[in-house]
Amino acid sequence: MKWKGNRWIAAVLACGMLLAGCGSPQSVEDPAEQTPSGSAATAEEPVSREIFAMDTYMTVTAYGEQAQEAVDTAVSEIERLDALLSIGEADSEISVLNASGTAQLSADTGVLIDRALELYQDTDGAFDLTILPLMEAWGFTDEAYRVPSEEERKTVLQYIGADQLTWDAESRTITLGEGQKIDLGGIAKGYTSSRIMDIFEQYDVTSGMVSLGGNVHLLGGKPDGTAWRVGIQDPENTTGILGVLETGDCAVITSGGYERYFEQDGKTYHHIIDPATGKPSDSGISSVTIVSDDGTLADGLSTALFVMGVEKASDYWRQHADTFDAVMVSEDGTVYATEGIADSFSCEQDVTVIEKDR
Ligand code: ADP
Ligand code: MG
Repeated sequence: MKWKGNRWIAAVLACGMLLAGCGSPQSVEDPAEQTPSGSAATAEEPVSREIFAMDTYMTVTAYGEQAQEAVDTAVSEIERLDALLSIGEADSEISVLNASGTAQLSADTGVLIDRALELYQDTDGAFDLTILPLMEAWGFTDEAYRVPSEEERKTVLQYIGADQLTWDAESRTITLGEGQKIDLGGIAKGYTSSRIMDIFEQYDVTSGMVSLGGNVHLLGGKPDGTAWRVGIQDPENTTGILGVLETGDCAVITSGGYERYFEQDGKTYHHIIDPATGKPSDSGISSVTIVSDDGTLADGLSTALFVMGVEKASDYWRQHADTFDAVMVSEDGTVYATEGIADSFSCEQDVTVIEKDR
């Protein structure tokens, strides 16, 4: 059995590709060449810091006179949210809840529970925050990867379903159902990147970006006023890019089966689980990228639409086209883009445009 994870590659890709071809001397192409931490920032020079948190490499970059303060505050915020939400730390708020079955939650975690439950309803259960017992059964939490027996999977499936927990939003009190444990890993990074955009705005940053393990959130355009260029990873060749999206002021978040998986007896098992079957989702999709100004939504939907598959995901987009756009790649290599971003997505391959009115 072997495990592969290429989060580092994804992070580097996102930074390197972000300004691909922009040619600007102020580009953020190589974070190592940027203003070192502690030196005075100017409006033209970026300040950038890299950290490892939430199980991935992250880069925070900002332009502006208060860029240093903005980036430092953003890094503290990432560390704070990681400590709150991590399922790998026994004393995080989520782990304490999972151990005891009931808790009164902090304001941040409360917001995330609200959003996760909303996504559960809206996606017909494709996004389910109670997925953790299945992640454990498949060994994704302790990296002891294994295929659970039919019997174990069926037993664990009984504990899955956000409709089995009770949540009182006013008092922020949550009580889990029997055998239940929650995992906000499907939205935590998107929520974090949205928080960073708020921090940037507090420090009058007009141009900035955060890359969280290949997921990108952008504030404004580039300092020269042009659009950012975000590379979307090729799920078939994870060291290459599929195409480039010209955009700004939004999150671009990708879920792919290639991000974390193991192989056993010639079969590949990835970390996005279909709550209906209890198995790694098998919808025929190999990656989903969501573009939205709402980072939490983008993150949650990248996971949910991956579970849905192209057809259901396209219908879902038609009903919610005002809140997001998407690029999807199916296992047969077909590339799809929704109408709203098709014109700003350049791709070497033919792109099938998903239209609102069929
Ligand atoms: P990543 O976090 O690797 O960038 P995703 O955003 O797709 O990718 O989130 C995958 C994570 O979400 C898993 O590691 C797990 O914690 C959680 N997860 C897996 N399947 C589901 C699901 N169906 N609903 C909600 N969360 C899920
Ligand atoms: Mg997600």
